[in-house]
Amino acid sequence: MTALEDALWSYRTGLLPAGHPLTDALEELAGRPRGHVLPAVGLVDVRTGRAAPPRDLEVADGRILDRGPAPACAWYALPGLVDAHVHMSSAADLVGLLVYGVTAYRQMWGEPAHRYAAGVYRARHAVLPRPWVAGGVVDGPRSRVPAAVTVVDGPRAVRHVVNEALAFGFDGIKVYDDLAEREFTALVQAAERVGLPVVGHAPERVPLTAALRGMWSTEHLYGVVPNVFRLPPAARWSALAGALDRREAQPGPLAELFAGRWVCPTLTAWRARTGERRYTRPSGAALRMAAGGRRRSWGAAAREALGTTEAVAAERGRLVDRLGHLTRLLAEGGARPLVGTDCGNPFVVAGPSFHKELAELSRAGLGLATVLTAATTGAQQALRLDDPGPAGLVLYRRLPAAVGDLARPDAVLVDGVLLDGADLDRLWALRLADAGLDAADWPRGELDAVVAGVPREREVTSAG
Ligand SMILES: [Zn+2]
Repeated sequence: MTALEDALWSYRTGLLPAGHPLTDALEELAGRPRGHVLPAVGLVDVRTGRAAPPRDLEVADGRILDRGPAPACAWYALPGLVDAHVHMSSAADLVGLLVYGVTAYRQMWGEPAHRYAAGVYRARHAVLPRPWVAGGVVDGPRSRVPAAVTVVDGPRAVRHVVNEALAFGFDGIKVYDDLAEREFTALVQAAERVGLPVVGHAPERVPLTAALRGMWSTEHLYGVVPNVFRLPPAARWSALAGALDRREAQPGPLAELFAGRWVCPTLTAWRARTGERRYTRPSGAALRMAAGGRRRSWGAAAREALGTTEAVAAERGRLVDRLGHLTRLLAEGGARPLVGTDCGNPFVVAGPSFHKELAELSRAGLGLATVLTAATTGAQQALRLDDPGPAGLVLYRRLPAAVGDLARPDAVLVDGVLLDGADLDRLWALRLADAGLDAADWPRGELDAVVAGVPREREVTSAG
């Protein structure tokens, strides 16, 4: 075992440290009954955005049973939201997801701590969003981050990756930019034999056609555009612009390649790196939401944003808009979009950022039904949740008419446990207190902290 692996094992309870106020709160909620009645619920059909006539629902040990018609809607319910690309690093992150209606997530760089949280979830020892956890990142011998990844350079290493994923219960294998084509092909075949999906960055040395054929999902639109953050800072955005020019010139063949494929563009994370403040809104309060180990990268990002002129940031922002438009083209061509945030990265806060991603996709022109499907039932398929019942419900007193209405649920059902508005308020207050903030600094349901002197405005989304 390497020193890093040793450290990761010693940190395995790190997401839910014993005695931490947030751990205590989540454990205490696990004592609640998982059998009760939800009266008069109009289930929202995510394919239309319309609610079915109200029914009384019985929750029995986490499962939902129909108990017949009810006179008038008291609740409108959607399947629990799914963040398809996260990096959880604390109980605060887990709470952030729940409070914003996210009842399942895809952890994209799994460590023992994430498997431990999955154990706690299954044992029902705390109320947690349902995890899907990829193993540690798999890269090639020319990796730019060799100390952090498993380098795969031949058949033995391929077998090791599969052994490890199965041994520690990981749900999939995440590949990275520098995996070589021969090892990629061998890994995809070995993973397929044992039923493990391969996800992650489309490796740059693998032709896109082969990458898409072998991968269950691809992230950040890499493969469509390169991972420009591997380039020196001065070269990044012009490289992105060049790649966009080339792709936009021939959108048809690209859309054909992606038809039927899961694609997780993480536009919010792209946006956060532009230095544009209109949607990212870096602030002292937001900076405090970063857990200990993340503070340095968040601080560096804040300094970089402050050093970026508004004109430059706006120009980069337009490139992210173009990534959004490409996402729409891919979706229209039959690709299956996912709502993933890459939260944990600078100024992408677990929970609120999910709703920023919904707004990004909406602004890019994806319709309400497409976005809702991506956020719920589509994602359940991508996570291969054969049993979507316990994944949860997100409940509202009024029918959500646009994605902007989803960020402040009136209740959340997690594996049978109902968190009502007061519970969500209390959990959010505890999450803020953990960051040294109070409720007025970041009202629940807002996408950003309140910044003195900046008027609060709703994110602009398309109407449909
Ligand atoms: Zn990520």
